[in-house]
Amino acid sequence: MNMNGKNVTPLSSTETADLAALEVRSPREAISRTSPETARPSQENAEGMAAGLLAFVGEDPAREGLLRSPHRIVESLKFLTTGYEENVEALLNGAIFHEDYDDMVVVKDIEFYSLCEHHLLPFYGKVHVAYVPNGKIVGLSKIPRLVDMFARRLQVQERLTTQIAEALEEVLEPKGVAVVVEAVHLCMLMRGVQKQSASMVTSHVRGVFRTDRATRAEFMALIKNGGA
Ligand code: ZN
Repeated sequence: MNMNGKNVTPLSSTETADLAALEVRSPREAISRTSPETARPSQENAEGMAAGLLAFVGEDPAREGLLRSPHRIVESLKFLTTGYEENVEALLNGAIFHEDYDDMVVVKDIEFYSLCEHHLLPFYGKVHVAYVPNGKIVGLSKIPRLVDMFARRLQVQERLTTQIAEALEEVLEPKGVAVVVEAVHLCMLMRGVQKQSASMVTSHVRGVFRTDRATRAEFMALIKNGGA
């Protein structure tokens, strides 16, 4: 327990035993401890790994302020990745309507919070979505939920952008769909070279947004000046 040469109060024997049970020596071992049918660690194992990380950074996982942290870390991670439990069909079920509306539909400034899959650090910002219907529209409240579903997974911004566009294309078969994501990445802001304006913009356009410059320009203008 004396990891960085700090003076740490010796643990009682029961505490030591608890920590030994939590200790995971390698990712391979962590996986080998999981149940064979799911290859997924139990909550208890996950909390043990979180405690191991606390010890790894030189902390004492048994000190009062950290006692519940492994549990909190795992619960927080579960919430931030609830998108894995959802799918497009179930989410949009009952919210697709037939409608002869063929002008552009824009939903802008959808706030999102995600975790980068490389560092598990947050990236967050805004998503702007547009589509030109082709006989089908979707309930407006469903688009932010679709964004959340994909954002609450381990992500890279590029894939998040594409997945939102592809999901809408699949269920609505619109004349076109466009998605723009603007985000800041804490893994860029907090680590290494700290660039103050490390915001990133990604876009994915399909159908008329790709083929028709005027449609694309109209969308870009709408998301830029608050005109939607
Ligand atoms: Zn990252």
